[in-house]
Amino acid sequence: MNNKSINILQLYPRDMNIYGDWGNALVLKRRLEWHGYGAVLLEYNPGDTFPGDVDLIVGGGGQDSGQDIIQKDLLSIGTQLRDLANDGLPMLMICGLYQLFGKFFKAQDGHIIKGIELFDIETYAGQERLIGNIITKSTEFDDIIGYENHSGQTFLGRGVQPLGHVLKGAGNNGQDNTEGARYYNVIGSYLHGSLLPKNPQLADFLIEKAVTKKYGEFTPSVLDDRFAELARQRAIKRPR
Ligand code: GLN
Repeated sequence: MNNKSINILQLYPRDMNIYGDWGNALVLKRRLEWHGYGAVLLEYNPGDTFPGDVDLIVGGGGQDSGQDIIQKDLLSIGTQLRDLANDGLPMLMICGLYQLFGKFFKAQDGHIIKGIELFDIETYAGQERLIGNIITKSTEFDDIIGYENHSGQTFLGRGVQPLGHVLKGAGNNGQDNTEGARYYNVIGSYLHGSLLPKNPQLADFLIEKAVTKKYGEFTPSVLDDRFAELARQRAIKRPR
């Protein structure tokens, strides 16, 4: 273990944390330690003071009601989050927070939940929820495997790069075959599960970006990912 350490911030864990999303922060902490680095888990909830020394940010999904609860506070830290993203800070936003890192989410009852416009995306609740196991193909990260459960249908603005293309499942909107979005070192995705235990390549991408940004270089260890690989093989065979 070297004396280098990464601060991982969990955004709104009280209201935006469903379908195991908390597991993403735990995977990042454990993999950092396996790579020989320290890791500290921090939390930020509405009304808290946004911590100064953050190296990596993760956020989960939530019901429409949870998105309503955090919206005002999220808009109040929107400029900080956009500045951090433009400065190359790595972030992973899942489902409900992915939607609110965009322009807005129009809920089924028609009310608009405004977002911080980091991603040029718009989300509209559909009549039918998009639920089930999902597999996508990404040029950056190869096959990405997870579980989706959302009413929102997300449409990418011109030139917005998706995270991947759907092989099985609905993805952003069940129409254009895209899933998620990318912006600098920020990853947005509909994939719960949680996402990172079955997709260690994504975890190591976020870790490499965080350590290199803070310390100038990242010295990875060779990790034994046999169990992650077994879980992937099992998940790939699961029906929708
Ligand atoms: N409430 C949002 C929707 O239904 C997000 C759901 C989620 O985070 N799983 O689309």
